[in-house]
Amino acid sequence: MKKVLSWLVGIIFTIVVLVAGIFSYWYFGSTNYMLTGVPVLNYHQVNNKFQTCLAMKPKNFEEQMKYLHDNDYHVITQQQFDEYMSGDGTLPDRPVLITFDDGYADNYQYAYPIMKKYGMRGTIFLITGLVDKPGYLTWEQIKKMSADGMEFGSHTVSHKPLTSFDREGARRELTESKAVIEQHLGKPCTFFAFPEGKFDDMVMEETKAAGYKYGFTVETGRDFPWDDHYDLDRVPFFEGPISFKHFRFRLTFSAFSAILWDTHRYFEHIELTKPLAEHIPQP
Ligand SMILES: [Zn+2]
Repeated sequence: MKKVLSWLVGIIFTIVVLVAGIFSYWYFGSTNYMLTGVPVLNYHQVNNKFQTCLAMKPKNFEEQMKYLHDNDYHVITQQQFDEYMSGDGTLPDRPVLITFDDGYADNYQYAYPIMKKYGMRGTIFLITGLVDKPGYLTWEQIKKMSADGMEFGSHTVSHKPLTSFDREGARRELTESKAVIEQHLGKPCTFFAFPEGKFDDMVMEETKAAGYKYGFTVETGRDFPWDDHYDLDRVPFFEGPISFKHFRFRLTFSAFSAILWDTHRYFEHIELTKPLAEHIPQP
């Protein structure tokens, strides 16, 4: 009986310590990027026209930008992100990198003026085959934003997942889009986002060989210098209507998602711990 009691006390004590630890980590640690990594926010469309999972209303987007601005988050540039990931250079407190996929025309019409209003800048991943097409950005708009501090990356030529190509085809998508962006902007294009977040070993090798420094997926989490630079997590703000509460929750808890997600993947790769991985939630 005594033994059972001491076991019980031990277990309760462990749980209390764990909960207190998690809470203090969340409360004190989630804003320290050295402990919790850098969140790379991921948007697509910002407009009032569409009701799809990719679209966010300008009003909601502004509410989120205002929150970041008013709560001392600091939007960082590609160069700052690069320095952080290479292990040198310090970042401001509460850093965030803001990204948009696909290069929709509404990024220029709505997102860019809102970001400008709050002194922010971001990276737009372009599908080069769709630039100047209806609904997408024009090179003129892209050049204008580039001159004003907005930054760009590649999201391939055609937007087909790179895993659907053979090596030659994937290489063409990666190098041609990079060359076109560099030619138009006169700046190196070293950031890449995988269409649909899909990649495999071949795609990763080709992304590296094409001269990109970073490859972004759509998996949830934050980024650390020791992460694989071609398998970088982001914090998605699409997939259905994102309420402001949901935005704050995702922003804060992306620090946890990264840990959960990494643990899940780690356990999944080891035969012995495979069953355990099933019990770790995928954020
Ligand atoms: Zn896309």
